[in-house]
Amino acid sequence: MPVQPPFESWLRPDGSGLYCVPGDFHIDPHAAVPRAVITHGHSDHARPGHGAVLATADTLEIMKLRLGQGAGDSLQPLDYGEALKVRDVTVRLVPAGHILGSAQVVIEYQGQRAVISGDYKRHADPTCEAYELVPCDLFITEATFGLPIYRHEPDTGEVAKLIASLKDFPERTHQVGVYGLGKCQRLIALLRQAGFDRPVYLHGALRSMTDYYLARGFALGPVPSVSDTKEKLAGEIVLSPPSALGDRWSRRFADPLAGFASGWMRIRGRVRQRGVELPLIISDHCDWPELLQTIAETGAREVWVTHGREDALVHEVSKMGVKARALALVGREDEAE
Ligand SMILES: [Zn+2]
Ligand SMILES: [Zn+2]
Repeated sequence: MPVQPPFESWLRPDGSGLYCVPGDFHIDPHAAVPRAVITHGHSDHARPGHGAVLATADTLEIMKLRLGQGAGDSLQPLDYGEALKVRDVTVRLVPAGHILGSAQVVIEYQGQRAVISGDYKRHADPTCEAYELVPCDLFITEATFGLPIYRHEPDTGEVAKLIASLKDFPERTHQVGVYGLGKCQRLIALLRQAGFDRPVYLHGALRSMTDYYLARGFALGPVPSVSDTKEKLAGEIVLSPPSALGDRWSRRFADPLAGFASGWMRIRGRVRQRGVELPLIISDHCDWPELLQTIAETGAREVWVTHGREDALVHEVSKMGVKARALALVGREDEAE
């Protein structure tokens, strides 16, 4: 068998982020670069100001909505599964199951395969394509919830809690904090799956992204804007950015009851700190068992951990007999979930 070059010789962090040497591009760089492959539209992955950007069509549209001209000088869409030769490497994008358009970046070079997963989850999500497992030699993973305490509940149970609370407190407006890209639209879709057919009212900050999902054909039902009604919305669901919980904006509602849909709602301190009465553990990331399961299933002989709780995951993966290291990439946020 020919000697294969170490992964670090062709894929490594530099001052701008993770760089593929023989392809001459960065993946989700935190600084503006000439050529970037972007895994998904969240702001800590899709930064403004790149030259050429390669991503799924949905990610490019989301970047245009968020960043306008800053989305990049030239935008090239790549369908899931389609192989593209980029200099000396072959690149494919494969569903990551995280949000609409999210992709893992699969890079083949000299008979070796690296998978950069971006953010991903294994739970089913009605608003994006399901995660696709790709066997590989090197697997590069996030570790947002990389501690054994993190176990996400089935989302159906969390949504049932919200619907039950509306029955228990019909005189109160249920204001639920959600992140605007992904979580908002997923929560609406889950409510519809659970048979909830009342309007779901939206804060203005959630409008444009939700309209994009509607335009893409997702059946989200009636989603009027709060600003279009004078009602106090007792017994109704209002979705807002987390920052609007307990804010002056909430005073217009009937005795607002604060909910928050996030994987962080597992942590009591975060629930208290936010003044959340109805924590809903709904995450767009893997929990601890899913991280370990995925790493094992890829069959990778080496694992790099990009952001989150790197130390615990590196330790656990090493115990599985797989070589592991923390990349310590800067500029990733764990809040936006
Ligand atoms: Zn993300
Ligand atoms: Zn992220």
